Amino acid sequence: MTDGLDPFDLASLIVAHDEGNYAEAVVPPIFQTSLFTFSDYDDMISSYRGEKVRPIYTRGLNPTVRMFEEMLAKLEGAEDALGFASGMSAISSTVLSFIEPGDRIVAVKHVYPDAFRLFGTILKKMKVEVTYVDGRDEEAVARALPGAKLFYMESPTSWVMDAHDVGTLASLARQQGIVTMIDNSWASPIFQQPIKLGVDLVVHSASKYLGGHSDVVAGVVAGSKEMIARIKAEAYPYLGGKLSPFDAWLLIRGMRTLPIRMRAHEASGMEIARRLQNHDLVEQVCHPGLANRLPNGLKGTSGLFSFIFREGVDIRAFADRLDLFKLGVSWGGHESLIVPGEVVLQQKAQPNSAHAFGIHARSVRLHIGLEGTEPLWSDIEGAIAAAS
Ligand SMILES: *Cc1c(COP(=O)(O)O)cnc(C)c1O
Repeated sequence: MTDGLDPFDLASLIVAHDEGNYAEAVVPPIFQTSLFTFSDYDDMISSYRGEKVRPIYTRGLNPTVRMFEEMLAKLEGAEDALGFASGMSAISSTVLSFIEPGDRIVAVKHVYPDAFRLFGTILKKMKVEVTYVDGRDEEAVARALPGAKLFYMESPTSWVMDAHDVGTLASLARQQGIVTMIDNSWASPIFQQPIKLGVDLVVHSASKYLGGHSDVVAGVVAGSKEMIARIKAEAYPYLGGKLSPFDAWLLIRGMRTLPIRMRAHEASGMEIARRLQNHDLVEQVCHPGLANRLPNGLKGTSGLFSFIFREGVDIRAFADRLDLFKLGVSWGGHESLIVPGEVVLQQKAQPNSAHAFGIHARSVRLHIGLEGTEPLWSDIEGAIAAAS
């Protein structure tokens, strides 16, 4: 299930990052400090001249945040990584580092709604045009790419779960010198390592599986040293969406259990998706694991998927009857969640991305948490019975 991931890299998630510096503590300290002082004038001036890399001010560099970045880079098989205050901060800072006014972006359709809104607001003001293509149609992608500056992917997407052959799409863009990036939040590096598939930049909403406990909002981008340096030189310091030391510490703690959590989300998610697919009142289940095979490069599935009820099911009654599943956005934590599509379709945010996100009015999105398959299934079965 985790083939492709080096077991020694996984083991390195568990061991301390001490290297003898912090009294052999098994958990690293939180450097909860805004600044770091200099021992004397020479120390200060050599730092300003760039003769040595050391923390000066936390917005630039903080040791706890750096530990998280190194951990994530290793997990993604990337040379470097950079933490952010949110997934959207990682996405916006990365995109803004690689485009200029008048450039064109090609994006797969059904991307995360706030990424869609970023493209439709700030980037629109910068006269950056975004062309949306179906990432499952490789010929359509190939036709759209010429002349683009950036190819933005998300796979699987997070409502209809379009799953793409990421390696093939990346190579189409690479042949033309187009920078490629992907939102890898759904699969996590446990099930998909896009850098190894030829993608340049991988972003995560670390608020989801990396953190895994619904107690932090954070983001990260991983890529080559050169590309990360480019983000570090502009969007990162000046937009200032810095990951806080405490949030980085929570992520380090969460990531130690990422492999076993992902396996549990996968097992329960697959089983519940299969049972829903066989349920009389369910029209369709959108879960990549139900296809004959997973796309190349995707090694497993997570706990987030959606399904469409047949006509006549009272979705309000279904949602209100659920007990273990809480009504709530976000996902990736220990707890199971439900979002009814008909609610999202009423959202006022502009540009309204619900349709662009592929949401069907009779669809429901589930996040399968860690409560266990049987209690979750009996919750769903009881709620469907109450709603029909
Ligand atoms: C939540 C999410 C984001 C945004 O991340 P934040 O941490 O909330 O800013 C981006 N992409 C996907 C797929 C998400 O689910």
